[in-house]
Amino acid sequence: MARERVLGAPPKGSSPAGGGGSPPWASSDEESRRRDAALRPRLLREVIGQRKVAQRLAVAVAAAKKLGEPLGHILFDGPPGLGKTTFATVLPNELGTSIQMTSGPALSKPADLLPFLTNLEEGSILFIDEIHRLPRVVEEFLYPAMEDYRIDIVLGEGMHARTITMRLKRFTLIGATTRSGLLSGPMRDRFKMHEHLEFYSVEELAQIIQVNAAKLQTQITPEAAVELARRSRGTPRVANARLYWARSYAAACHEGIITAEVARAALDMAEVDREGLDKNDRRYLETLIDLFGGGPTGVEALAATLNLAADTLADEIEPYLLREQYIVRSPRGRLATPRAWQALGKLPPTPSIPAGQKNDSLFDQP
Ligand code: ADP
Repeated sequence: MARERVLGAPPKGSSPAGGGGSPPWASSDEESRRRDAALRPRLLREVIGQRKVAQRLAVAVAAAKKLGEPLGHILFDGPPGLGKTTFATVLPNELGTSIQMTSGPALSKPADLLPFLTNLEEGSILFIDEIHRLPRVVEEFLYPAMEDYRIDIVLGEGMHARTITMRLKRFTLIGATTRSGLLSGPMRDRFKMHEHLEFYSVEELAQIIQVNAAKLQTQITPEAAVELARRSRGTPRVANARLYWARSYAAACHEGIITAEVARAALDMAEVDREGLDKNDRRYLETLIDLFGGGPTGVEALAATLNLAADTLADEIEPYLLREQYIVRSPRGRLATPRAWQALGKLPPTPSIPAGQKNDSLFDQP
């Protein structure tokens, strides 16, 4: 069973910028996990951006300390790479407690949860990534643990079955999800705080890049940090990947310093375009426009054509394209906006006038 005692990123099924293909900066999941762990902020004040979320968490931490109570259960939601795990790993440092980490897909039955629950310390944290993927039986097993710090274990079967109740240490459950809509109502209601993480501004990402470049002992100019930030899909994990790639590029082809020119050349080589769209983004838009005439088309059809899981599309590629208004969602499916056509160097279609209606204006009659 996947169980990590303290820190270290939980299992993740996602690549840094959207799965599929392997552009040079994307590297393996394992490598991206190691990078994440090395660059993750350790305290709330080191977290950049998401100010409102950080402020609310600081209040919750201060209250928990003063009242001598565990922190209430917290749910983080938002697209991959925006800092859900980061916030979860910062909180035990602030509270001076430990964290155990696992993920929804690793918990297939209630018994898989037992080692985590029995290892809890008073006030410690249990982090479940991809919590929307917990099977219903495991979810229901968690309810009394979350509410009353107890679990009910059924021993034996049929007529001889009996239930024993086990008391647990008071703990905090932190759930992370890219799909809060898939979480059941009862599960969602059991979280005291529900924090939604937003995409980052270019300024915030540039700051993250500069801080992380310093951690990696790499020189980077402020202009280069902005160039990388502009092309990082509003996502710190992508920014880290771009920084690593630019660092390698600078070391191999230049003096090791990341200047704006080096950053531009590195990203051009990695096929990240000037708008910041990567190979997967462009494949998505090309398919939608060239094959489906700009839509509307369903996500399943797009996923099948791109040979990617519909979840990958919905979780990793589409949120950024939606936010930047390259696509819109309509009841009949995804639709490319004029911005998407322009990004691919094409003219958006003009609304067509149905045949037979062209010349039927009174004034145009001969
Ligand atoms: P998620 O759990 O949402 O997929 P992570 O918390 O693993 O995302 O974030 C990926 C990486 O991005 C982290 O390792 C960290 O280096 C960086 N990061 C995320 N959020 C922030 C932030 N607010 N400030 C600084 N770095 C961040």
